[in-house]
Amino acid sequence: MIYNSTRCRSVGVESARAINDGISKDGGLFVPSNIPTIDKAFINSIKELDYIGRAKKILPLYLTDFTEAEIDACVKGAYSGNFDHDIPAPLSDMSDGSYILELWHGPTCAFKDMALQILPHLLTRSAAKVGDGKRTVILVATSGDTGKAALEGFKDVENTDIIVFYPNDGVSATQKLQMVTQAGANVFVCAINGNFDDAQSGVKRIFTNKAIAEKLGASGMAFSSANSINWGRLLPQIVYYVSAYCDMLNANPDMTEFNVVVPTGNFGNILAAYYAKCMGVPIKKLICASNANNVLTDFINTGVYDRNRKFYTTISPSMDILISSNLERLLYHLAGDDDARVSEWMKSLSEKGCYTVDADVKAAVSDNFYAGYADDTATKATINKLFTERGYLCDTHTAVAVSVYNDYVAKSGDKTPTVIVSTASPYKFAADVLDAVKSGAADGLSGIKCMERLSEVTCTEIPTPLCGLSEREVRFAGSVNPSEMDDVVYNYLKI
Ligand SMILES: *Cc1c(COP(=O)(O)O)cnc(C)c1O
Repeated sequence: MIYNSTRCRSVGVESARAINDGISKDGGLFVPSNIPTIDKAFINSIKELDYIGRAKKILPLYLTDFTEAEIDACVKGAYSGNFDHDIPAPLSDMSDGSYILELWHGPTCAFKDMALQILPHLLTRSAAKVGDGKRTVILVATSGDTGKAALEGFKDVENTDIIVFYPNDGVSATQKLQMVTQAGANVFVCAINGNFDDAQSGVKRIFTNKAIAEKLGASGMAFSSANSINWGRLLPQIVYYVSAYCDMLNANPDMTEFNVVVPTGNFGNILAAYYAKCMGVPIKKLICASNANNVLTDFINTGVYDRNRKFYTTISPSMDILISSNLERLLYHLAGDDDARVSEWMKSLSEKGCYTVDADVKAAVSDNFYAGYADDTATKATINKLFTERGYLCDTHTAVAVSVYNDYVAKSGDKTPTVIVSTASPYKFAADVLDAVKSGAADGLSGIKCMERLSEVTCTEIPTPLCGLSEREVRFAGSVNPSEMDDVVYNYLKI
C-alpha cells in the first residue's frame, strides 16, 4: 500500500515511512492511495475471532510492508493484558436499537488508548525500517486524553522521548492530574497558556520548521507525532469499527446496515468510521456529534468551514476544538484525490480561518454524514435521562453523541440499528457527570472526591487506573506561552 500526501499527490511512501514521519514535508497528511475493500467472506472469516484475531486480519490490508510476525507482536503487545475488560471494545445493548461501543477500558480510561497502546509498537518498528537509527521525539498537543494515553503508551520506550503540551484551563482536574503525575524517564509535560488550537498549531509549526528539524537531526534525533494526524493513530481505529460490525452481526444476523454516531473533535475517530465504510462495512449514516464548538455541524450542513467564531470551554473538553485536522483527509478523498483543491482550502484556513468547498464535495459530505450538536445543558440532561431510565452511566462526550442521536431519530424517524461510540469513562469527568446525575452534589468537592461520591451515588466502580491519583507525586508543574514552545523542546532535549 502506498500513501500519498493530501497536499502533494505525487508523494508516495510506504506505511513505515508515513508512520515514522507523522506528517508529510509539504504539510499534508498521509492517506492510503486506494482504500482496501473487504467482502462478506472476509467478515465471515473474522466474525468468530476475538479482538486480537480480528486486528491481525485487518491491519495487514494497510500495513503491506510489515511482516505477519511484526503485526502479531504489535497487536499482542497492545491488546493483551492492558485493558480492564476481557474485550477491549465491548458493545452494550441499550434495548432500543442502539448499542454503545465502549472504547475506554484501556489504561487511561479514554478511547485514545485503542490507538495509543499500539502506536509505540508500530512506530518503533517503522523507525527500525526507515528511521536511520535516529532517536524519535514524539511531540503531542492534547485536549486532555491524547496526552495521557500517549504518555502511557510511550513511557520508557527505547530510543524515544515524548513531550506533551496541554491547554492550562482546557482539561478536567482528573486529566491534568493524570498527566502531571506521569511516570517514566523519557517524558515531559508542559501546560500552555492558551487553548487546544494554540497547542496544536504550535506543535504543527515546530514540526514543519526546517531550522528546528536541522538542529534535531544534527543531534541524532527526529520528530514524530502521536496526534491523530499520524496514520498510525488512525489505522487502529478502523479496526474497532470492523470489529463492531462483526459484533452487531453476531447479535443480529439479519442486519443489513447500521448507523454510527461519534462524539467528534479533531475528526479522527469519525474518519476511521468513514474508512471502514469505504472498505465495505455497511454504515448508512455517519452521525457527527459536536458540543457548542459546532464548527463541524455548520460545515457538514453548509459546506462552509469557518473557525472565526467564539471558542467555548465546555464540559466535554476533549471536543473543544475549532480546527479539526483530520477533515483534510476526508476532503482529499471526497474531492477525488485533488491535492490542489485541498491545498487551497487549507491555505485559506490558515490565512483567513475559513474555506468553502465546491458543490461536488458538499454533496458527497451530505451523502455520508449527518451532523448535530449538544450544548452543556442538553449534555447533562442526557446523562441524567440515560442513567435514570436505563441505569447506564456515560461521560459528557458520550452524552453529546447520545443527545445528537436522539435528535436525529426524532427528526428522521430512522430506526436503523445504531452504534453510539463511547469515548471516555464517566469517572474521567466525574464532577460534571455527578452534577448531571444529582444536581449540586459536586459543589465544593475536589476532582477526587467527586469520583468517590459518583461511585456512591450510582453504585458503579471507579476504574483502577484512576484510583489513588491524588497520592502520586506531581512531576510537571510548569506552563508557558505558545510562543515559548520551541524553547521548551530545546531545553528538554538539551539541543
Ligand atoms: C479525543 C476525544 C474525542 C474526539 O475525538 P476525535 O478523534 O478528535 O474526533 C471525543 N471524546 C473523547 C473522550 C476524547 O478523548
